Amino acid sequence: MTGEPTYDTDVPPGESSADCPYCDRPLESEELLVLHEGLDHWERLDEDRREQFRETYQRESDDLRGFRLKMLGLLVVVYFVFLFVYSWQTTDPYSVISLVFV
Ligand SMILES: [Zn+2]
Repeated sequence: MTGEPTYDTDVPPGESSADCPYCDRPLESEELLVLHEGLDHWERLDEDRREQFRETYQRESDDLRGFRLKMLGLLVVVYFVFLFVYSWQTTDPYSVISLVFV
């Protein structure tokens, strides 16, 4: 097996892609390029580029945390919807309490 590694990177036609200056890998956006450079070519980056990576990486982590919080909130809402439907459908109020605490 010889040759250049190939990458599965989808760049929609007509979009301008950002090519990595170190390994020519095409990336969809400037932001992804910054992340790729920080992960794969850290030793070759100058201090400006490293700082840019830290900021982008931080922003990405914040996005992920926000997403997790939203999903947790949704789960809680779904749980209470089911609880209300159940307590509305049942005539015995203690069955709901035993459902939650037992
Ligand atoms: Zn690269």
